[in-house]
Amino acid sequence: MKNIRLKNGDSWDPGSDPYKVQDATKNHRQEIEASENCCCISCLEFFPPSEIRKWWDDGRSACCPKCGLTHVVVGSESGLPFNKYYLGMAGGHLIN
Ligand SMILES: [Zn+2]
Repeated sequence: MKNIRLKNGDSWDPGSDPYKVQDATKNHRQEIEASENCCCISCLEFFPPSEIRKWWDDGRSACCPKCGLTHVVVGSESGLPFNKYYLGMAGGHLIN
């Protein structure tokens, strides 16, 4: 896997395809509801799925209860590395 140049100029080797993170942030309601914990790749807050109040895409994509953005919530059941470092780097690459 080759390094990715982040928007802030840093180089990052994700060890997997960072676009999997993007896929994990939408059409994921079942996965989110099965997850013990969720993390937002925008504000990097962790919260249980029960805190999610708003859903978009006809109820398929979670809206972050902390920062209010959509397509940023990843569940612990996503199969992705579930830690702030990885998700923060992926967020830095995918959003802004
Ligand atoms: Zn958020």
